[in-house]
Amino acid sequence: MFHLPEGVIYLDGNSLGPLPKATPEKVGSMLTQEWGDMLITGWNKADWMGQPARIGDRIGKLIGAPAGYVVMGDTLSIKVYQAVASALELNQSRKVVLSDNGNFPTDLYMVDGLLKSLNNGHELRLADPENVEAELSEEIAVLMLTEVDYRTGRKHDMKTITEKAHALGIIVIWDLAHSAGAVEVDLTACDADFAVGCTYKYLNGGPGAPAFIYVAPKHQNNIRPALSGWMGHASPFAFDLDYQAGAGIERMRVGTPPVIALTALEASLDIWDMVSMADVRAKSIQLCDLFISEVEARCPNLELASPRDGNNRGSQVSFKFEHAYAGMQALIANGVIGDFRAPNSMRFGFTPLYIDEDDVVGAATILERVINEKLWDNPQYQTRSRVT
Ligand SMILES: *Cc1c(COP(=O)(O)O)cnc(C)c1O
Repeated sequence: MFHLPEGVIYLDGNSLGPLPKATPEKVGSMLTQEWGDMLITGWNKADWMGQPARIGDRIGKLIGAPAGYVVMGDTLSIKVYQAVASALELNQSRKVVLSDNGNFPTDLYMVDGLLKSLNNGHELRLADPENVEAELSEEIAVLMLTEVDYRTGRKHDMKTITEKAHALGIIVIWDLAHSAGAVEVDLTACDADFAVGCTYKYLNGGPGAPAFIYVAPKHQNNIRPALSGWMGHASPFAFDLDYQAGAGIERMRVGTPPVIALTALEASLDIWDMVSMADVRAKSIQLCDLFISEVEARCPNLELASPRDGNNRGSQVSFKFEHAYAGMQALIANGVIGDFRAPNSMRFGFTPLYIDEDDVVGAATILERVINEKLWDNPQYQTRSRVT
C-alpha cells in the first residue's frame, strides 16, 4: 500500500512516513474535480469547510478521543502554543510550566516565546525525564510532555503521570508526535486535558502535513483560544468585528484549512481504518526487539540508547556511536535510511505497515558492514546537510 523505492530499507517513517500508493490519485482528483471544477463552491459542495473536524474524528479513533474533540490545522508548533496558552488560563494562580529535557526543542521554544509575550512572571522548568513525577507540585500550572522521547524512544506512562498531576491540580498536555500511529493511546482513559501531534510521521500524511489538537470535553467550552482566527469564530461569515469563540473544538481552528494537504492525509487514513493499533503495537515491539538483538550481536561497539523493555519504548530504536553522523550517511548510501540525532545517536523507526523481519535483519547486516568495515570513515560522509 506504500510506494517504497526499490533497494531501500526505510527505517525513518518515524520522521517522514512514506507515500501511500492511493495518495497521488486521491489528491489528483481533488485538484481537478474539486478545485478545478467546483472552484470556490468546493467549500460547500465538497465540504472543505468540514474537513478539519471530519479528519480530526478519524485521528481521534487512533488516540482514544471521542468524535468532536479533535481538529486539524497548522503545524504542531502552533498547536503546542495554543494548548499551553489555553491551559495556563485554566490555572491562572500558578506560574510554572513543567516539561522535560528530552522534549523536542520546538515545544520548549514555543513555550518560551509564549511566556515572554505574557510577561507575567511565568517560568518554564525542565526535569530529567525520569524525574518528572518527583518534580510535580502545587506550584505547577501546566505539565507539558511528549509521550515518546524523539531521541531515545523512552515512553512516559501517560495514565500514571496524568493522575498524579491532576491530584495536584495541574493541567496536563501530551504531545503525541511519536505516538499517533505508533503506540496505543487512550486519551479518554488517561483523562488528558489537551493533546497535540503531527501527521507526517507515523500517519503518512506527507511533508508538512497538518497537525491536530485534542481538548478534553470538560474544557472545550471553557477555554479561550489564544490564536483567535476567523475560522475559530462562532460565525466566520457573519464578519462580526468582535471575536466570539466557536463551539467546542471548532474554536481551535485558526485560518483557512490546507485542503490539499488534508486530502493527502485522508488517503493515508483509509489505510489506518483497516488496521488495529493493538496489532501495530505488538508487531512494532517484536521488530524493535529483533533489531536490538541483531545489532548487539553484530556491532558490539554500538551502545543501545533506547529502553530495552518494549513496553517502555515507542516504535523506534537508537544506538549511540561516536561517528553517528558519518555512520548514518554511509548507511543511507548503502540502502538503509534512518537518521542522525545530535549529539551521537543513530535512530531507526519501525513501522509494521511496511517493515518486516527481513527488512530488520537486512538493515542490521548492512549496519554491521558500515561499522565493522569502517565504511563511515570517508570524507564524503562528514559534511552535515541542513536536515540531518
Ligand atoms: C516532530 C515534532 C515536532 C515538529 O513540529 P512542527 O511544528 O510540525 O515542525 C514538534 N514536537 C515534537 C515532540 C515532535 O516530535
